[in-house]
Amino acid sequence: MLNGNLKLALQKRGRLTDKSLQLLRNCGLDIEDYSERLIVTARNFALDILFLRDDDIPEYVSDGVADIGIVGEDVLYERNADVEVIRKLGYGKCNLSLAIPENKTLNDISELNGKRIATSYPNLLKKFLEKNKINATIVEISGSVEITPSLGVADAICDLVSTGNTLKLNKLKKSFDVFTSEAVLIKNKSIEEEKNKLLDILLVRIDSALNAKTSKYLMMNAPKSALNEIEKIIPSLKSPTILPLADPTMVAVHAVIPAEQFWEIYKKLKDAGASDILLLPIENMIL
Ligand code: ATP
Ligand code: ZN
Repeated sequence: MLNGNLKLALQKRGRLTDKSLQLLRNCGLDIEDYSERLIVTARNFALDILFLRDDDIPEYVSDGVADIGIVGEDVLYERNADVEVIRKLGYGKCNLSLAIPENKTLNDISELNGKRIATSYPNLLKKFLEKNKINATIVEISGSVEITPSLGVADAICDLVSTGNTLKLNKLKKSFDVFTSEAVLIKNKSIEEEKNKLLDILLVRIDSALNAKTSKYLMMNAPKSALNEIEKIIPSLKSPTILPLADPTMVAVHAVIPAEQFWEIYKKLKDAGASDILLLPIENMIL
């Protein structure tokens, strides 16, 4: 373990595991299938991955057992660990929300005054209640929070909600959002100089992988005469690349665009005279 490698804490088995490993592989890291192992070393980078329960990750990083870690903001801010958040990673998005029995109503948060709310996130809930000046009782439960209203233990719950299926099964409905979360990369505040150098190299790759995920490579052919208008439509990071074609009246136009904007612009491009429009994924992008 004391080999000078950068140590990254990752959730062992859960909602953040696959996407985190995918991100690392998109960074060019060769990581063997971890299966049941607790520590895996990348074959082509000085990085050890420690597989842990997500709840323990903030503390392990603040203690320096791991140098960096990937964890949900919900767990991070619930635990209140003294670490530095260095990147938002764009996956593991979810909401910590209040939910109430289907047959009840909650029009205003103030109606929670005097009520009992069950949650595994007592600290985040407490902050939310304090901010909204609500005096409610927090019932701390470690799991299966959604059954507490039917057991008569609580009047409402505060839990992570994604599809709402679990709520429906328990005859609950979503009410106000308490906290919005995504996966983040965290760092020990007093990381050694040598490891910081490794981290900088890794961060260049992570940024490249994150940029590549949100960008696409757009290609099309267009009459030279339409170029002005087409350049105005393309939401490019830089000015597009223009290449000559065998037909002297035509050019090829290439540009990197924000992926989500393609469907807003493709019709405009066609109307402006573009043809043979192609949209390709980008594997890596160094800006
Ligand atoms: P562990 O065994 O590691 O303690 P867990 O059961 O506490 O796992 P998961 O359910 O795997 O944790 O969730 C891990 C994190 O994934 C949560 O803290 C949250 O940040 C995020 N998450 C939760 N629900 C969703 C969802 N529906 N979609 C995307 N991300 C989610
Ligand atoms: Zn957990």
